[in-house]
Amino acid sequence: PSRSAATRLVAALGAIREAVAGAEERLGRLDAVAGDGDHGIGMRRGAESAATAGAEAAAAGAGAMTTLVLAGEAWSERAGGTSGALWGAMLTAFGAALGDEAAPGREQLAAGARAAVAAVTDLGGAAPGDKTLVDAAVPFAETLTRALAEGERLAAAWESAASAATRAAEATAAVPARIGRARVHGERGIGTPDPGAVSFALIVTALTEEF
Ligand code: ADP
Ligand code: MG
Ligand code: MG
Repeated sequence: PSRSAATRLVAALGAIREAVAGAEERLGRLDAVAGDGDHGIGMRRGAESAATAGAEAAAAGAGAMTTLVLAGEAWSERAGGTSGALWGAMLTAFGAALGDEAAPGREQLAAGARAAVAAVTDLGGAAPGDKTLVDAAVPFAETLTRALAEGERLAAAWESAASAATRAAEATAAVPARIGRARVHGERGIGTPDPGAVSFALIVTALTEEF
């Protein structure tokens, strides 16, 4: 197993934990508009638990895949809520695409991003435009895949993809929710971006610093 890949993932999980902790209140307020207000606390709990589990796994010699699978399991167990299950599934799917043996390359990272999106849509059944984190995750994975295929450096490709996710998350303000808890108060959420799309964009933006 590649220890250095796992060690870098531990740093990335730490960056996610910090980014989410710093946005906890804002995410909670966004979720209170048309949801139940727990998105900030759920994301903080999940990210904390994932960072701890990932660090323990890597310290025990786990490779990239095992580190992320264990982090994902910890996230969904501790976070609760819809987004907890979805983030657990995303980390697990991303990890599975990386494998445990070698340091993950560009292809695996793009494949991991696509696998994470597929895991969310399989589990939650949302499509782009439903006002969920899928609205940010799909353009993220597509932009990353395209930029890497065009030969962009990884850091630049990730940054373009994070920008696409941020723009897409902001654009969710314009539409009513069509799925999930917020669907019930769909019209009330018009003018406010989807909390899950915002937290997705925030996380991938924070990860830009890790390349
Ligand atoms: P809960 O709705 O259970 O309280 P959270 O508040 O943590 O969970 O997460 C809410 C976010 O989850 C939403 O803003 C949305 O982005 C995302 N979400 C909800 N349902 C789905 C779904 N079916 N597919 C994808 N994302 C979803
Ligand atoms: Mg909620
Ligand atoms: Mg809830």
